Amino acid sequence: AGERNCGGDHSRILVFVRLRPMAKRERDAGSRCCVRIVNRRDVYLTEFGNENDYLRLKRLRGRHFAFDASFPDSATQQEVYSATTAELVEAVLQGRNGSVFCYGATGAGKTYTMLGTVENPGVMVLAIKDLFTKIRQRSCDGNHLVHLSYLEVYNETVRDLLSPGRPLVLREDKQGIVAAGLTQYRAYSTDEVMALLFQGNQNRTTEPTRANETSSRSHAILQVVVEYRVKDAAMNVVNRVGKLSLIDLAGSERALATDQRTLRSLEGANINRSLLALSSCINALVEGKRHIPYRNSKLTQLLKDSLGGSCNTVMIANISPSNLSFGETQNTLHWADRAK
Ligand code: ADP
Ligand code: MG
Repeated sequence: AGERNCGGDHSRILVFVRLRPMAKRERDAGSRCCVRIVNRRDVYLTEFGNENDYLRLKRLRGRHFAFDASFPDSATQQEVYSATTAELVEAVLQGRNGSVFCYGATGAGKTYTMLGTVENPGVMVLAIKDLFTKIRQRSCDGNHLVHLSYLEVYNETVRDLLSPGRPLVLREDKQGIVAAGLTQYRAYSTDEVMALLFQGNQNRTTEPTRANETSSRSHAILQVVVEYRVKDAAMNVVNRVGKLSLIDLAGSERALATDQRTLRSLEGANINRSLLALSSCINALVEGKRHIPYRNSKLTQLLKDSLGGSCNTVMIANISPSNLSFGETQNTLHWADRAK
């Protein structure tokens, strides 16, 4: 088990944008919609929400973006899952690793997209459901082992969300970088997993001042590992492993315009090291650099075997429609634009 699945040097990252509906709080504050999505692809941003601005914006730098797909606020969880992640689940069943990230400011809809609610489950739950459906359709379904782990990176400390306790230490062994002692939960069905994920999400670190809210600095990582046996061309039975990582990233609001500064000065400025290191890795991958700086943070170490190379990488940038979040939305779209 555990051969390295990311050997190639060509990296393509699929980048999606999801606009969430206007919240009551935003409407009550007199917000106007400053985002318009056209043809499920183009995103236009206007500071004051003037309808006539959009055509003019096409020619303005920084106000018109195009992505692999852009989801309007009416898009369902299932639509988002199908367009962004379904192919990665298929690939995992061929033994290929992949990862899906939700990026965006706090309140932009990352956790809704990844975890969702009991009534409207998100990408994590839909991916596992789809995985079990596809395994059952295979003739040799008894062969498949599915294990889940759910962990958090908070202030460069790694914690097990399925079995909260002391921080976990990252170790390098022949399988790559592993969190020592991390729970590998053997999963059999979707229903049981859904409860587990909501419970795990409750275990995320909260900010001391807001005891009921998940900290905006916490990254949650769900890793789904599928192991199965197949016969190769010479009719030898071989073990295959595929891993899918689904990541609800920390809020991006404190990572503004940071590229020119060094990591050391950023720490003083309370900027999230893992988020910044992820940006550096993605930029290096997109630019085709030989050296990818995985070692710079816990998040990028954990995802080393699931990011870049021949792995499938998907980014979902979450944005609010409110003009009160104009600056954050523009930053998120710029960031996503650079990941293409
Ligand atoms: P984040 O995790 O990025 O901080 P959340 O996912 O918690 O943001 O979303 C903030 C609020 O907006 C939550 O109450 C969430 O239920 C709601 N929300 C986000 N996206 C959607 C959506 N697509 N449809 C309906 N409600 C949404
Ligand atoms: Mg969240």
